[in-house]
Amino acid sequence: VDKEKDSDPMHIIHVTAEMAPIAKVGGLGDVVTGLARACLSRGHKVDIMLPFYECIQKQQINELALLSTYNSYHDGNWVPTNAYRGLVSGIPVIFIEPSNQFFKGQYVYGGSYNELEAYLFFSRACLEWMQVTGTKPDIIHVHEWQTSGLPLLYWDMYHYLSLQKPRIVLTIHNMEHYGECTQDQLNKCGLDGSIYATVDKAVDDRTIGHNPERLCLLKGGIVYSNAVVTVSPTYLQETLCSGWLASTLIRNRDKYCGILNGIDTTTWNPATDVFLPAKFSAHKTEGKEICKLFVQRGLGLASEDTRAGNAVSRTTGKVPLVVCITRLVAQKGLHLITHAIKHVEELGGQMVVLGKASNGRVEREFEALADTHNKGSSIRILLMYSEELSHMLYAAADMVLVPSIYEPCGLAQMIGMRYGAVPIVRKTGGLADTVFDMDDQSHAEMANGFVFEGIDEGSLNWALDRAFSHYQEKPDEWNHIVQKIMEIDNSWNNTAGKYIDVYSSIRGFHHQKSRSI
Ligand code: ADP
Repeated sequence: VDKEKDSDPMHIIHVTAEMAPIAKVGGLGDVVTGLARACLSRGHKVDIMLPFYECIQKQQINELALLSTYNSYHDGNWVPTNAYRGLVSGIPVIFIEPSNQFFKGQYVYGGSYNELEAYLFFSRACLEWMQVTGTKPDIIHVHEWQTSGLPLLYWDMYHYLSLQKPRIVLTIHNMEHYGECTQDQLNKCGLDGSIYATVDKAVDDRTIGHNPERLCLLKGGIVYSNAVVTVSPTYLQETLCSGWLASTLIRNRDKYCGILNGIDTTTWNPATDVFLPAKFSAHKTEGKEICKLFVQRGLGLASEDTRAGNAVSRTTGKVPLVVCITRLVAQKGLHLITHAIKHVEELGGQMVVLGKASNGRVEREFEALADTHNKGSSIRILLMYSEELSHMLYAAADMVLVPSIYEPCGLAQMIGMRYGAVPIVRKTGGLADTVFDMDDQSHAEMANGFVFEGIDEGSLNWALDRAFSHYQEKPDEWNHIVQKIMEIDNSWNNTAGKYIDVYSSIRGFHHQKSRSI
């Protein structure tokens, strides 16, 4: 369908550390790609500026070409830097490649260079590129602590050079990562670190009085951006009530809002998904059965056909498949994930965990679990990152588990729903804004999953038990709910308009200085 174009097109440049699928670690990458695509299709001009990480697979970039070579500043030197242009799944991307060691290595994060200094360099290199090429977008949209230095560099440096027009939006995807920084590190990108060491600018409030040296890029980004967005209304409330950045957010409350993320329905579409052995949609769900069988066979899990001669399975009926696809970090509720593995097995269900740990201790813990459980025929713990497998698992799943301790927005529950997997989630952040319990009469018309509140195992059991009995005892109702969740519109088409409203509200028509500090 040809979507309606917005009447007043803008030029928006995202400056970001991640972009799906070429440089994706978590939801940030998905959000940038999905939002950019939605704004493009509404008639806006959108570019994404990304570090040219060594690990990016160049064959995923179309029409890659060197645009220009210019110098960008780091620690007293001008570093020769290449800017390339290319198309990634139809979206224009500008890749910044410095000639120093920054962004080299096997992965997006965790290289052997200083990450904080690298992203400060990148933030300045993007502004420098706009300056030398005369590129004047309406909006520069920065994300997370990695590019939160850009608003400081813009308002205190480039705005006095030739960049007058742009206004800055910061999206905070996860408040736990602050970008802790010393004055000296800020000096290295050419700013005077000492002028930010005040409570109303970028000093790290946790160290006030004993260490004015410590600054926080995310706090500076909040103060210096024209608008600050976080990724769900419930998370917005949570961030205003707890955490040391709450006081900064409260001081900047008038420019702070919560906009629920969407999912990129071009990437996540079970009717066209190239990774699936069979396609399906809300009105033609047979393909989902084939996907389940395919995954069960592929992973050596018992399937309907292998169990045909087994008297036990004939009495217990269909076996639900639960998936959990996540970064294995504390935020995601690791003890609840490990408990779910045990409980699903006790309930006679099947579970697949697809997860990557970034911490050695967690990795060893899950490796030990995999050693114990992967021998059987009901649990698989796959410790890796795989885009392809994630698509197949969402498609195969009857239920998707997201037991996060906190969750700014969460994409897994929305992707799961689009693929007909009923979400089982903890009531927090964006999970609370997108999943409504089947047994909650006050939300009967919105009911689309199973929700629990506590962070204890009993709370999780309660949700899992209800989901399992629903699945096994009321198959017609279950099929109805599967169909219903596949039709929910969690796409960016639905929410990108809210970002456009934010962009429009801060646009610098009159060249007035609308920074609010
Ligand atoms: P976060 O941004 O905190 O990682 P989200 O739920 O917002 O959490 O986004 C996670 C995204 O990353 C989803 O698209 C999910 O499918 C994907 N993902 C997480 N872990 C893996 C993995 N091991 N393999 C493939 N995809 C993964």
